[in-house]
Amino acid sequence: MLTMPSKRPSRRRQTGPPPPLDLDRALGGRRSESAPDGEWTVQRVRGSEKTYACPGCRQVIAAGLAHVVAWQADGLLGPVAALEDRRHWHAACWEARARRR
Ligand SMILES: [Zn+2]
Repeated sequence: MLTMPSKRPSRRRQTGPPPPLDLDRALGGRRSESAPDGEWTVQRVRGSEKTYACPGCRQVIAAGLAHVVAWQADGLLGPVAALEDRRHWHAACWEARARRR
């Protein structure tokens, strides 16, 4: 019987490095902010074609509306995971969050 450990079953699709993140390409102005819960990277974006739920006010961010995207710069799982976990905020909601300590 052949019970040799064979090669691992092919990993799901993703071999190679992750595809370049569109945020990196499409967007310039990015800044770091310190918050009570850590360091955040904040990126202003022009509106996109999708709608998002703003975690600040729990309202929808309409497609095409300029807003900010924020993710933890010091996320425990590393920058890529943190970036994948990024949140879209209304700009005003993000600022309100930063001020609310
Ligand atoms: Zn909001």
